Amino acid sequence: MQPDTPISSLRSVGSRKTDALAEIGIHTMADLLEHFPRRYLDRSTVTFTTDLRKDMNATVVGKVTGTQMRRGRKRSWFEMVVADERGFLKCRWFNGAKWIQKRFNKGDVVAVSGKVDFYGGFQMVHPDFDVLSEEGTNPINTGMIVPLYPSGQNLQSAGLDSRGFRRLLRPLMDGIESKLPEYFPRNMLEKNALIGIGEAMRKIHFPDDMEALKQARQRLKFNEFFFMQLLLAIRRHSQAEVVKPNRFTTHGEYLASQYAKLPFTLTEAQKRVMNEIWTDLKSNHPMNRLLQGDVGSGKTVISLLAAAIAAGNGYQSAIMAPTEILAEQHYKNAIKFFEGTPIRVVLMTGSQTVAQKRDLRKALKEGYYHVAVGTHALIQGKVHFKNLQLVVIDEQHRFGVLQRGELLEKAGEADVLVMTATPIPRTLSMTIYGDLSISILDELPEGRQKIITRKVDIHALPKVYDFIKDELKAGRQAFVVYPLIEESEKIDLEAATMGYEKLNVLFKDYKVALLHGRMSGDEKDGIMESFSRNEIQVLVSTTVIEVGIDIPNATVMLIENAERFGLAQLHQLRGRIGRGEHRGVCVLLQRNINADSMDRLNIMVETTDGFKIAEEDLRLRGAGDIFGTRQSGLPALKIANILYDGDILKLARKEAFAMVQDDPHLRKKAHTGIRQIIMEKYADLSTIAGIG
Ligand code: ADP
Ligand code: MG
Repeated sequence: MQPDTPISSLRSVGSRKTDALAEIGIHTMADLLEHFPRRYLDRSTVTFTTDLRKDMNATVVGKVTGTQMRRGRKRSWFEMVVADERGFLKCRWFNGAKWIQKRFNKGDVVAVSGKVDFYGGFQMVHPDFDVLSEEGTNPINTGMIVPLYPSGQNLQSAGLDSRGFRRLLRPLMDGIESKLPEYFPRNMLEKNALIGIGEAMRKIHFPDDMEALKQARQRLKFNEFFFMQLLLAIRRHSQAEVVKPNRFTTHGEYLASQYAKLPFTLTEAQKRVMNEIWTDLKSNHPMNRLLQGDVGSGKTVISLLAAAIAAGNGYQSAIMAPTEILAEQHYKNAIKFFEGTPIRVVLMTGSQTVAQKRDLRKALKEGYYHVAVGTHALIQGKVHFKNLQLVVIDEQHRFGVLQRGELLEKAGEADVLVMTATPIPRTLSMTIYGDLSISILDELPEGRQKIITRKVDIHALPKVYDFIKDELKAGRQAFVVYPLIEESEKIDLEAATMGYEKLNVLFKDYKVALLHGRMSGDEKDGIMESFSRNEIQVLVSTTVIEVGIDIPNATVMLIENAERFGLAQLHQLRGRIGRGEHRGVCVLLQRNINADSMDRLNIMVETTDGFKIAEEDLRLRGAGDIFGTRQSGLPALKIANILYDGDILKLARKEAFAMVQDDPHLRKKAHTGIRQIIMEKYADLSTIAGIG
């Protein structure tokens, strides 16, 4: 058996099984071996029928003692009685009863899992089920650990339920150690207390005891992380081999002078980051740096100081923002920052006319402008620079990982600084941004007032409105934010509009305005503009203000239906206030209370630390959907979990980066096996890693 042998070459796998397996991406022996059990049954995970309680989730293992199709007045169902050595349990299926009926025979030993109900006796409705054996012997009683495999209707119809998979896999375990030769160097195995790959395969599918299972998991998780990190390490290394055409030789004449004009001094964290950037700029190789800094940590000034260095060296810079509003804000900041210098700043956005864009492009190409600010229109299509050497991407969290890749490609041999306001737990940034150097702004500028967060229900609303009035009287401004979630867009918009009308009356001495996503770009900009000039005091808005807006005079934020927001989103929203010298107050108004949202909102009340919030967010929502790790171009994780296996990830990352450091092209004899796996298994990914 070779790992790439098609599974159809197994005698027990006919065309039906081949098709059903192909549907879930299993084509070869190696794929089949990586179809890992979803869980395991042993004594400790099985409940006796006499220990069942209503509403508990349980797994019962027993013999099928009776099966029957029953007919009621309205519908029919399938009923099955399972008896263990102490009692019995009824199972009922109302849907797909005919199909289910065919799965079981009297005398089969089965495992059923689900929520326990009481209906004249204990029962489960539509439980998950697995046939453990037909012979009537209960493997759990013999102390076995039984693997249960992920399956589905088509697989089951083709005979590939858990039992089918066990039958398929069991014979493959004969001599598995010699079929899957070890590819990790011996010292790496020893150092990390890892078992061999063949042994791990055997133990993950058919563990003799829990300890064996633990060893198998450790090795296989390490494996997944290791190859992922190896690809990143190789990519990072190949980037580092690129020699950039434009070296930075000096701080230039603008850095010191413009720094001196700032109304503040940099925080220690900002200074450290500036040094890290400078080290990259003056090196021979392009910078690839991620700057992580919580909202309000002062990333903008970093990008401007870097642009000042670029200008001082005679190079152009591009600063990109995810939205037009933000691009304009950056533009204004840049204009102000370079005031009194000969540095020319230009704004490019999608809403400019064709003629305007053409002129701007020409001027950029001729090197008339030194700093170009814009949305991604800036680097799309026909835009050319004379000598672009610094690209800053203010990512917030709007650009996907793939888009970032595209942008970087366009940037070519330029120095790239990606700024993100989304605090990313370390384990995640090691994967998503694993090929970048990372700088962290872990300190807020001094004098920044803490934001106070309160969670209230509707009874407190009059008090909240009074408080907002007091703030307005003191000259401050307020945000009132409504949720806007796509499925219910229309209703949400109505809620925001009604809220606006109500507040317009309530705060009649002040100017109240409504801002939402259906407005044109110009309308939105106009309103934001007026709000930032304090011509509007209360901004009622849907979530469009979420990203990066800087209005230091805004001190209150009331978030309506706060229970409907995700944690990361609440954190971003809250970051819009408390940015100036006055303390900020964020009120989370909960209209519908449930346990889940209580947890989320409590976290918001307890901490303003973006990293803590991000970790909690990840825990509550799972890693997948937040950052789209699956579309990151990295290998999918089948057994390891970024959230819970951070320790293994760190070990694997260390080994992978050390290996590439020592042997960048994996040419050493000890690395042959690993090189081969990359070529075979990650062939389609090896381009992102720049090998192959
Ligand atoms: P973010 O990291 O969220 O993009 P900004 O760059 O918008 O943060 O900075 C937030 C505010 O803090 C701005 O008004 C900026 O001028 C100010 N700021 C930045 N750095 C400092 C500092 N070292 N001391 C005082 N204020 C600062
Ligand atoms: Mg910002």
